[in-house]
Amino acid sequence: MKVLVVEDDPSVADGIVDGLSDAAFEVHHSATGAAALADFSSFGPDIVLLDLGLPDMDGTDVCRALRKQGSVPIIVVSARGDEIDRVVSLEMGADDYVVKPFGMRELIARIRAVSRRTNAPESPVGPTERVLGPLTINTRTQRVALSGEDIHLTPTEFELLVYLTEDPGAVCRRSDILNDVWDTNWFGTTKTLDAHVAAIRKKLGHAGWIESVRGVGFRFGQPA
Ligand code: CA
Repeated sequence: MKVLVVEDDPSVADGIVDGLSDAAFEVHHSATGAAALADFSSFGPDIVLLDLGLPDMDGTDVCRALRKQGSVPIIVVSARGDEIDRVVSLEMGADDYVVKPFGMRELIARIRAVSRRTNAPESPVGPTERVLGPLTINTRTQRVALSGEDIHLTPTEFELLVYLTEDPGAVCRRSDILNDVWDTNWFGTTKTLDAHVAAIRKKLGHAGWIESVRGVGFRFGQPA
């Protein structure tokens, strides 16, 4: 698996590059936002680890620019552990968020989890298209359309929407969503879940698509 590491601090970058190389990842390092955008095309990574504090560009702008180029998974790696950055990153299209300092084992686990859910093989049985009023979700082509207009979701947003629409109207418990979509109940994921739900609601143009069930989780519905 090819990993693009975007990090301006040489000591942090060296640690990540060495650790990932030891774990048999193919790694390329970019030290600036501009280099990352150029290297993204030439290297063609399967996943991007993106530091938010870069010398030439804000990491969230890099995230937005990468997201425009396709659906490659992006994990934001940041020293800024505050809630705003986490939410902004996820809304900018990042799939996950890891706060420095972190251990290599945690980072590799996050990479594997994100990559597993974005490359999950399609279920061999069952219909590939779900039609929920004006909303169409195709699990084979991974396309979502609302009243015929394509809606662009990140890989994780797509997985979450597929999960929520498996049984429309049924309540999905937070812990079940976290286990099934994020694989694990790690620190901070419950806010990550909220940020992804918020992002999907925004893209679908109505909060009523995903109803919050207080203290339990979420229920997929159709806005009145
Ligand atoms: Ca930095």
